[in-house]
Amino acid sequence: MTMREECKEYFEKISEYLDGELDSETCEKIECHLRECPECLHCFESLKRTAEICRSLPREKIPEDVEQRLKDKLKGFLSKDAAKSFDL
Ligand SMILES: [Zn+2]
Repeated sequence: MTMREECKEYFEKISEYLDGELDSETCEKIECHLRECPECLHCFESLKRTAEICRSLPREKIPEDVEQRLKDKLKGFLSKDAAKSFDL
């Protein structure tokens, strides 16, 4: 999957954004970009859903192959640092 440089920058921050760790100025920039960029919005929505599933389900209830697939999918979206913050 190809991403514009601009989009990569936003995606490096997206896990912090999902965790509510960013200041409001940065949040606004991300939200602004998501409104303008359907590709990022789509990725963001999938990521958000995946993160919510990962967090809401007890680990042992996710079949291993499913969990691995989710992780691989997330890793495809995220930078190394961001992936680390999801414990991938
Ligand atoms: Zn984008």
